[in-house]
Amino acid sequence: MRQTVWSRQIRKQFLVGIPRTLRRSSVKPECRTHVLEANRQVTVEPGMSEYFNFMELALVEAAKAADRGEVPVGAAVVGPDNAVLATAGNRCREFNDATAHAEVLAIRQACRSIGSHRLDGASLYVTLEPCAMCAGAISLSRISRLYFGAEDPKSGGVEHGARVFSHPQCHHRPDVYGGIGAAASESLLDAFFRARRREFATP
Ligand SMILES: [Zn+2]
Repeated sequence: MRQTVWSRQIRKQFLVGIPRTLRRSSVKPECRTHVLEANRQVTVEPGMSEYFNFMELALVEAAKAADRGEVPVGAAVVGPDNAVLATAGNRCREFNDATAHAEVLAIRQACRSIGSHRLDGASLYVTLEPCAMCAGAISLSRISRLYFGAEDPKSGGVEHGARVFSHPQCHHRPDVYGGIGAAASESLLDAFFRARRREFATP
């Protein structure tokens, strides 16, 4: 069965490299962070090691998503008191739902957990730059801070494409920090797409 074969291949990839990349010490210390304010990018100093803990939760969700045959993207929502409100990974294939991105699922879960449609003061950690849909959901839910891992020039909607938070019609712009745990996130994505290419190349 194709799914089974694929999962085995991906799991093998994880065993080889991914668990190592998930260790905090493996995150590149020179990893740059930046904050996007309106249309302006401002570089801030690294040394935000506490934030890597939450990104690790997102990375674990991304790895679990890949094992389910989903594109490995994971997210975590953390409340203003640093309580973890939700974690989720992509489930588009599982749910037959094109909108079941990790960010959307995590936001829905976090909203349910606090009984509010708004997440003021909360932070969202996601392993990949959010797409335009997820950036819209982040804005609508009033999330205060967005931390993402790898950039996504192809489908990202924060620093690429629609640049949702820079649009004049965007009524709520979170502070945006990119590049956190980017190497680990990229490893997951590379392993996933390498395995998928191999799967489709196999007669
Ligand atoms: Zn998305």
